[in-house]
Amino acid sequence: MNIVLLGPPGAGKGTQARVLVEKRGMLQLSTGDMLRAARHSGSAMGKKVADVMDRGELVTDEIVIGLIDEALDGAAAQGGVIFDGFPRTLPQADALAALLRKKGTDLHFAIELRVDDEALIDRITGRFTCGNCGEVYHDRTRPTKAEGVCDICGSTDLRRRADDTEESLRQRLWEYYKKTAPLSGYYHALGKLKVVDGLAPMAEVEAALAAILDVD
Ligand code: ADP
Ligand code: AMP
Repeated sequence: MNIVLLGPPGAGKGTQARVLVEKRGMLQLSTGDMLRAARHSGSAMGKKVADVMDRGELVTDEIVIGLIDEALDGAAAQGGVIFDGFPRTLPQADALAALLRKKGTDLHFAIELRVDDEALIDRITGRFTCGNCGEVYHDRTRPTKAEGVCDICGSTDLRRRADDTEESLRQRLWEYYKKTAPLSGYYHALGKLKVVDGLAPMAEVEAALAAILDVD
């Protein structure tokens, strides 16, 4: 089963994607993670997108569609693919449909994690992740058990994202409402949209996603 996780920055897409990877053997494809990896590797593409990302704007459709195309080529996930942070524009959504068709498969659901803007400031400014295994934490709602140490892998490389500031969030939300929110209507028209309350505690969001995925 292939799914898209929709929702503004901080909605909980990455958090829930990791659960689905662990519990269902799905493959998480996060364009944000891919772009950050390109930045850290110092590649020409990474350098090109760095400023755009820090400002909270979207990188070009061409770049992210290329990343997903490449990732899907090598993908052999038993449990299907979770698209996290992609698509973010209507041309990206059309491109995804075409790429999946080319692979002889389809998108089953687009699941929107619905939240309100107020909650997002706290979610984003409190977020940190493990640089080694990618586990997502929050200062208040999901702190590490031991201060400064990842619960999962024991790494002390805990990082905050350069774009996780109130100022960048404002721009990211603007981009979201202008370019990504119309995808709810797009997937609704295709009969694929499911909406989940993203403000609920993590375990409840997890259960709501499981209820959707277990129907099929
Ligand atoms: P996204 O991938 O949509 O940008 P994340 O999964 O990184 O969002 O979550 C953003 C922040 O909110 C993280 O710090 C995460 O620990 C926290 N978070 C995620 N889901 C919930 C939830 N249901 N309740 C409270 N905090 C959450
Ligand atoms: P994320 O990790 O999903 O919050 O993405 C971080 C940043 O990467 C975004 O603010 C954009 O600059 C860029 N980005 C990630 N995915 C996409 C996408 N599908 N289209 C355009 N830009 C993206």
